[in-house]
Amino acid sequence: MENWKPKTKLVHAGTKRSQFGELSEAIYLTQGFAYDTAEQAEARFIETGPDEFIYGRYGNPTVAMFEQRIAALEGAEDAFATASGMAAVSGTLFSMLRAGDHIVSAKALFGSISFVIDDVLRRWGIEVTLVDGTNLDEWRAAMRPNTKVCFLEALSNPTLEVIDIAAVAEIAHAYNATLVVDNVFATPIFQRTLDLGADVVIYSATKHIDGQGRVLGGVVLGTTEFIRGTFEPFNKHTGPSMSPFNAWVLLKGLETLALRCEAQADTAMAISQALEGHNKLSRLIYPFSPKHAQYELAKAQMTKGGTVISLELTGGKEAAFKFLNALKIITMSNNLGDSKSLVTHPATTTHQRLSDEQRAELGISDGLVRVSIGLEDTDDLIGDITQALEQA
Ligand SMILES: *Cc1c(COP(=O)(O)O)cnc(C)c1O
Repeated sequence: MENWKPKTKLVHAGTKRSQFGELSEAIYLTQGFAYDTAEQAEARFIETGPDEFIYGRYGNPTVAMFEQRIAALEGAEDAFATASGMAAVSGTLFSMLRAGDHIVSAKALFGSISFVIDDVLRRWGIEVTLVDGTNLDEWRAAMRPNTKVCFLEALSNPTLEVIDIAAVAEIAHAYNATLVVDNVFATPIFQRTLDLGADVVIYSATKHIDGQGRVLGGVVLGTTEFIRGTFEPFNKHTGPSMSPFNAWVLLKGLETLALRCEAQADTAMAISQALEGHNKLSRLIYPFSPKHAQYELAKAQMTKGGTVISLELTGGKEAAFKFLNALKIITMSNNLGDSKSLVTHPATTTHQRLSDEQRAELGISDGLVRVSIGLEDTDDLIGDITQALEQA
């Protein structure tokens, strides 16, 4: 299996058949597990083997299949699935940090992550320094002897900044800090984040891994030492476990993940080329557009530019709202990575909580819209965006 290519791993890795030989993975919808003998129960509580389970909060066979499949794809030693992407992010940070520790994080953060890092961690006596993720000097200057974690989102939301992961990993490791990367926007298909030097990779499986808007899920990937020694002891007791049903949906999502991500990224690339220089746009942000500020870095770190494009309309909020309301195929919603193309106005929705000043600092202007490209026909999407821009 080690030598299988990603698409083969996505279909087969982690599959465990019961005595019935079912073709599709079974959903083990059970809260717990029965023991044959008292001795077996005792032994299992001392050490739980790979195919042994105790209680749904600690682990489940369907969830384990999902964990093993995504770990094989990512090239990680181990993985732990969670109820949502935020359970994965907060479970990672809470299990690693204690009062008096320090975390350095890129400041362009998903809204809920910003709440966890900038509010909850501070409340719990953890020191927080936020840096411009693209500025390596800021990372260097922020490091302290008590820095335990460096955190960043590979491709920031919604301005798609690209951070030099290998360089940040080197800075983090010089202080024995752990580099945690939220890899949602880069996807496991386009970026080998562990190979670049990250220690822990996190996904909201709600996004591309489901990819069809059905369930919430998250997963944390890293060394066995980290997953079993740090993440699991905290999280099996605090309760963010993934439902076996959701694990099954996400296993099925993994089977088509590469096909979907590649098709969506190809369409995103074609749309970015078709819209380049459009007179209603003051900015078009796509990592594989030659005009992107970190184009070379994006090309070096990723194999494709991802599935999201951000567009800044010249007429501010009024133009952005007219554009959103005029779209006929692209649907207004805040998910991403979905087979349906989705559009979001970050300033009034996902990033509404931020001050005007913070939004300006992150480049989230009133004219900015984020478009997550789906599986529809490329020409239909270009037509939809073009007609809506004309009305804006
Ligand atoms: C959606 C998202 C999350 C949170 O995931 P949920 O499944 O919604 O909890 C975290 N990080 C990024 C980059 C996301 O897009």
